[in-house]
Amino acid sequence: MERSFAKEVELLRRGEGEVFEGEGILAITKGLLQAGVSYIGGYQGAPVSHLMDVLSDAEGVLAELGVHFEASANEAAAAAMLAASINYPMRGAAVWKSVVGTNVASDALSNLASAGVKGGAVIIVGEDYGEGASIIQERTHAFAMKSSMWLMDPRPEHQRFVALIEKAFELSEASNAPVIMEFRIRACHVHGRFQTKANKRPAISRNAPLSEPDFDYNRICLPPATYAQEKHKVEHRLPRAIDFIRANKLNEIFPGRLDDVGIITQGGLYNTLLRALAQTGLADAFGKSDVPILALNVTYPLVPDEITDFCAGKRAVLIVEEGNPDYLEQAINALLRKADLNTTIVGKAVLPMAGEYTGEVMLEGVVRFIEGAVPRGVDIAVVSAVLARVKEAKQRAAAIIGAPVPKRPPGFCVGCPERPVFSAIRLVERDLGKIHIAADIGCHTFSTLPPFNLGNSVLGYGLGLASAAGVVPAFGEKRVVSIMGDGGFWHNGLTSGIAGALFNQQDSVLVIMNNGYTSATGQQFIPSSTAGDKKRPRISIERALATMGISWVRTIRSYSVGQMARTLRHALTAKDKGLKVIVAEGECQLARQRRIRPLLRKMVAAGKRVIRTRYGVDEAVCTGDHSCIRLSGCPSLTIKESADPLRQDPVAHVNNECVGCGLCGEVADAAVLCPSFWRADIVQNPNGFDRWLFRLRQRVIAALAPRAKVAA
Ligand code: SF4
Ligand code: SF4
Repeated sequence: MERSFAKEVELLRRGEGEVFEGEGILAITKGLLQAGVSYIGGYQGAPVSHLMDVLSDAEGVLAELGVHFEASANEAAAAAMLAASINYPMRGAAVWKSVVGTNVASDALSNLASAGVKGGAVIIVGEDYGEGASIIQERTHAFAMKSSMWLMDPRPEHQRFVALIEKAFELSEASNAPVIMEFRIRACHVHGRFQTKANKRPAISRNAPLSEPDFDYNRICLPPATYAQEKHKVEHRLPRAIDFIRANKLNEIFPGRLDDVGIITQGGLYNTLLRALAQTGLADAFGKSDVPILALNVTYPLVPDEITDFCAGKRAVLIVEEGNPDYLEQAINALLRKADLNTTIVGKAVLPMAGEYTGEVMLEGVVRFIEGAVPRGVDIAVVSAVLARVKEAKQRAAAIIGAPVPKRPPGFCVGCPERPVFSAIRLVERDLGKIHIAADIGCHTFSTLPPFNLGNSVLGYGLGLASAAGVVPAFGEKRVVSIMGDGGFWHNGLTSGIAGALFNQQDSVLVIMNNGYTSATGQQFIPSSTAGDKKRPRISIERALATMGISWVRTIRSYSVGQMARTLRHALTAKDKGLKVIVAEGECQLARQRRIRPLLRKMVAAGKRVIRTRYGVDEAVCTGDHSCIRLSGCPSLTIKESADPLRQDPVAHVNNECVGCGLCGEVADAAVLCPSFWRADIVQNPNGFDRWLFRLRQRVIAALAPRAKVAA
């Protein structure tokens, strides 16, 4: 796991009237316990990984309450866990990153939403949309609408969203439907405080078990029950949900003096909107807005009379809705037409259809709206001038820099064990020509970026091999290489990719990156992890492959570039047909450094002998062609000006970030590059032998040095 939450776990114990201060995602976790959740399942992914991490560390708290927590095998499994709330009045929560996780979970979600629930079922999704996102840009809204699940988009303020978590369970129970709560990346990481309530012991739990199973055919998703369920959604659940949202004031109205205009915003964007209004002088620093605002903490379903009451008497209303399609804008327009109200609705006309509503985008949208709507009592020139000043400052900055600011794409960490595999593929391509690479999701997706540019398609987590199925026959005898991470292997790759390839007699090469964690999401453990809780059973990838009947399996240390290249070459050219699997073994370097650094510090402090390895470049030998950089891509391997006045080109240089993984030396050797790399072992607390060896080396160097001078 990326970090330990042992300290934060104590916050989960806060009782009635105490104060919780911390990160949003921890507040959400506390909100679940205060709401009396009985079970939680989830799959890691930013920005909700920390919810999973903190619950993994909260064993004691969960045991006291009887709450069951499960790190699910994937999002579909987490969603399926909510089945408990179909039959029993148990509150359950599932957690994942959306929309990718929601895609994976959609089968279970459709069935859950059709059957309906007795106990509250709440799905917490990290809505990874916008400039910091790492996934395809889509909205969860569509899933909520198609399956008749209610969608909450809470205003990012700790007290409010913690209260809304409890309301989400109540809404789910009142309307017999699951509720999705989406939290944007900023809401998950915003720091704040709220007054806590005591955690609620669930009525049914590990500590208070059920005695009788429930059977009700109407809750099975099979015709004719499904026809009745569909009607129940429309005739019972939807009206009950609308009544609950209205009666409990889940949406919030913030009045303002400029009542001939208004703004309807998704709750999650409220803070950004307030900031834009404050910049234009239309709100104060404490969040009091001059423009009336309706903050939709529930974006589906809308409460028709809330919308029409807010819009009645206003000339124009701005809809702040991030992403496309413009579901809210269309729905609000339809509601107003039905109510015969002629308020002008402005949304995507002044705000972009696609992309994140950052502070700057929001400011421009608000200014354009105010300029067009001309509210009574507002000096438009003052508002317009704010935007003009921002644009002018940007232009000035661009002129000073003289060129667009260079992009900073993500990349492998220093010393990453996955990088050498791509160095090896590059070497193999020198002999065998370009290879089609079916890439996958994980840190290894960075291989698609420079310097490797390896990876022709990315279709989904664990789907690297499955995505090669159509390409393999098209290449005939020339084999295709698929990549899969160990996280993706357990998520679904074993069945969707490997079982499928075996069953269909696919003749191709699969590389599995066995780094020991789901690294890209913060180093959570998976069934093959060797680190972490030693009591947990470990399932080896090789054993799983053997069980599937795959005989061509090679496990190679990922840093051994030469051996990896030879094995790849063999797999690509071997006469034997069928799936050939190379397991590239090397612990995630980030996790490794986090694991060993504190241990090494302790050893040094205790006077124990510790060796650190570092690599460097002998600049007198470096030829300056930088092949090593192109074949390695390690951020630690960089360039610097040559100290030699006769050389104009920069030389390769290893900076202080080097973790001594050895890839530089391996690449130089496997690719037969110039012999400029040196390795140094830094010995702390040396023993007698180290000192003797050091003195001996000093003498040998001193003896050779005069000759070196003569040669020079
Ligand atoms: S997190 Fe681990 S696997 Fe991912 S890039 Fe960094 S070192 Fe490599
Ligand atoms: S040895 Fe080379 S590849 Fe490894 S961390 Fe150091 S500079 Fe990077």
